[in-house]
Amino acid sequence: MTDYSKYSFWMETCGESLTPRSALTNSIDVDVAILGGGYTGLWTAYYLLRANPGMKVVVLEKEIVGYGASGRNGGWCSSKFPVTPSMLERRCGRDRARALMLAMNATVDEVSCVCQEESIDAHFHKGGILTLARGDHQLPLIRSAFDAYFRLGLHQQYELLTAAQAQERVRVSNICGALYAKENASLHPGRLVRGLARAVEKRGGVIYEQTEITEFKGGPTARFISPAGEVRAKRAIVLAGESYLSRLSKLHRALLPVYSLIALTEPLSDQKCAKIGWKDRASLASCNYTVDYLTHTADRRILFGSRGAPYHFGSKISDDQDRHAETHDRIEELVIEWFPMLEGIKFTHHWGGPVGMPRDWMPMTAFDPASKIATARGYTGQGVSTANLTARVVTELIMGRKTQLSSLPIAQRQSPAWAREPFRWLAVRYMQNAFLRIDGAGKQKRPKPADASVAEYLGRH
Ligand SMILES: Cc1cc2nc3c(=O)[nH]c(=O)nc-3n(C[C@H](O)[C@H](O)[C@H](O)COP(=O)(O)OP(=O)(O)OC[C@H]3O[C@@H](n4cnc5c(N)ncnc54)[C@H](O)[C@@H]3O)c2cc1C
Repeated sequence: MTDYSKYSFWMETCGESLTPRSALTNSIDVDVAILGGGYTGLWTAYYLLRANPGMKVVVLEKEIVGYGASGRNGGWCSSKFPVTPSMLERRCGRDRARALMLAMNATVDEVSCVCQEESIDAHFHKGGILTLARGDHQLPLIRSAFDAYFRLGLHQQYELLTAAQAQERVRVSNICGALYAKENASLHPGRLVRGLARAVEKRGGVIYEQTEITEFKGGPTARFISPAGEVRAKRAIVLAGESYLSRLSKLHRALLPVYSLIALTEPLSDQKCAKIGWKDRASLASCNYTVDYLTHTADRRILFGSRGAPYHFGSKISDDQDRHAETHDRIEELVIEWFPMLEGIKFTHHWGGPVGMPRDWMPMTAFDPASKIATARGYTGQGVSTANLTARVVTELIMGRKTQLSSLPIAQRQSPAWAREPFRWLAVRYMQNAFLRIDGAGKQKRPKPADASVAEYLGRH
């Protein structure tokens, strides 16, 4: 039997048995059937059941609840959205961009409220995010992000910090300034996803694990097909499998699976904590294209995550890709580069997983009343809070309600498909390589590579 605790520190320490629930054994009829036992699927089941007690809702999960990104992430529950505020403003106009950002801000508290109501001890702690400019070349990036929030009238929640002010909150090397964002919490992802599953079951939802959906069909009764039988749904089937949806032939080019990898240190002693001076467990990020994200866990470890592991031809996803020696070595080096006073610190865990990236970086939710097919997906590594918001939106869409949520710019939209192979592989590998080269040049205070503007234009989001 698979040892699911090996997939992440969070699954290992979620505080409950990971023995799978029962699998589907025969065909069944329900009101709503959901593919995916991660945050998206479980939040959708939760809000549907909360609004409609007695509704027959099932969640179908190939492995176990939390097997995917929801049980492996960096623990940032943040108001950060995959598309930058200035790009959002350009795409949807000021008012709609502002409405979406406000909804993201409120989502952080919504997650906390449900955790309290449902007694989910997810170690939720609201300490904000510090996006650090490490090197003068990154200062314009945090200034322009702040200007965009200012234009949207949201600047009260953000603060530009000087190098000295930032150093008072954490002693990271080479800080030239920082942008502080209030609306962010860090949490224990495994405890959240496993607790949510229990909350769904408490409200009458049924979760089948070890049940792979191989095909879906829309119609007056929409259907999921698995080797054990069909799940026929009167109201809706919901595709909530994020990056793994690319394994279904009909959705193969909808999302690109991109691996994000994490290294975790041993718990820090009092002395080491004093040396790094990390206040209030704020989440940390750099402005690098390779995306560095750090969490100070409740048990005082440093979690350092980053991208850069190579994309595999044909959007392949496999357990072998969860660990990539070159990227994990680079992450360990980064920990010491950021915190030179921690030289010699031990790393206890290494893991990773795929994030689902849409072609336009924009998360989407949709429900077609004719085919009864719904979906919520495409968070590009920002799904801990966003999945709660998309689940509430998709719930409104399925229930046919016209509300503020169902008119957000993430509602009823489609992202363009990714290119076919080998063009997809060529383009993605080029971008990954260009981002590593641009970050490397910045770090070594060298001029950007000659093709930087091309890569920056293509990677603009
Ligand atoms: C290493 C890493 C770090 C991250 N860090 C952060 C972070 O700090 N903050 C943040 O906001 N986001 C982060 N993310 C992203 C975030 O975790 C995801 O966006 C979010 O968990 C997506 O939730 P989901 O339910 O949509 O997908 P998932 O959690 O991936 O769940 C999908 C589930 O569907 C199941 N499934 C798929 N296909 C089928 C099928 N055919 N049949 C049955 N079941 C199926 C899978 O087994 C899986 O359990 C990170 C992701 C990774 C991988």
